[in-house]
Amino acid sequence: MLLSLAKSALRTIPARNFRSLAGLTVFYMHGLVRKHADERVQRLHLTVDEFRATMTALREWVRFVSIEEGLTLLATGAARAPLAVLTSDDGYIDNHDVLMPLTREMGIPLAVFVSTHHIDTGARFPTYLTRCFAYHAPAGAYPLPGLDEPLVIAEDDGARTAASNALGAAVYRLPQEGVRDLCAALVEAIGADRQAELDAAYVSDQPMTWTQVKAMSDAGVEIGAHAHEHAILHRKQARAEIEHQVLTSKTMIEERVGRCRYFAFPVGNIAHIGPDAVDVVGKAGFDAAFSTINGTLAASEDRFLYPRVMLHRDSRVDEFNFPFTALRHDRALPARQAQVKAR
Ligand SMILES: [Zn+2]
Repeated sequence: MLLSLAKSALRTIPARNFRSLAGLTVFYMHGLVRKHADERVQRLHLTVDEFRATMTALREWVRFVSIEEGLTLLATGAARAPLAVLTSDDGYIDNHDVLMPLTREMGIPLAVFVSTHHIDTGARFPTYLTRCFAYHAPAGAYPLPGLDEPLVIAEDDGARTAASNALGAAVYRLPQEGVRDLCAALVEAIGADRQAELDAAYVSDQPMTWTQVKAMSDAGVEIGAHAHEHAILHRKQARAEIEHQVLTSKTMIEERVGRCRYFAFPVGNIAHIGPDAVDVVGKAGFDAAFSTINGTLAASEDRFLYPRVMLHRDSRVDEFNFPFTALRHDRALPARQAQVKAR
């Protein structure tokens, strides 16, 4: 079964996607499920079979190394053969239960970027709460903080997707205080008991505990920071908030696992990072930081704004775009990094 899946993935992935792999590429993902209970709510998670097939195919072309080895080879000019690093963002419980044993079995080094408030409290992530609400709240019109008009939830799928997009956009745009208020209002509106029921149905989106994070670190997984509350460090976020998010996450990880050398910007594309965020992260004592701006590392002019490439869901397969965003953006990378840093 697994062998046939791996073979079908090898057939599906166009060779030109692999030909674009050169030097050092850092891939990112979020988590793994055996099977989705609801793909709309759990859309950050790949299936185990998708992941195994993708990694099996990728390993034919690249050698997976740790961040440290990758950056060392890059710095010494020795990263000529295609190298890759696997990273996973947020810190979901399946990273400990499923991803760690699977990557160990496959001999793939792993780095996980965790949001410390969520590890510390078990609180669900803002974007998960927005998806839960959009796809599970009863039909109605909900006045919510941070939204100009009441959010309309209707039973049809299209309306629920529109509501999910509107809530997601609010999380990406609001200052962190506004995100906290919106999340509290969503749980209040759907009801704490109903939210607890949904959380039990979507264990995939539960954060790890510190005990699990430490166990991963002890097993050789690199633990990096991903802001305290997964705050999106966009240019309208106050500098004091950015400092709180970045420094708290770094300090807590250092206290719990001993070191925190790397940072990944939450969401992390051009619209989700501002000049203050790059400045704060650059001065915080990290060795490097990672965005989700597309590209490979040799094209990067900034070690605190390194590019990454997302591992996609199988359902997003098309002939140009599987199993990761094709690497066509290296030439544009320096201009994109400059855009993030421009005042
Ligand atoms: Zn994230």
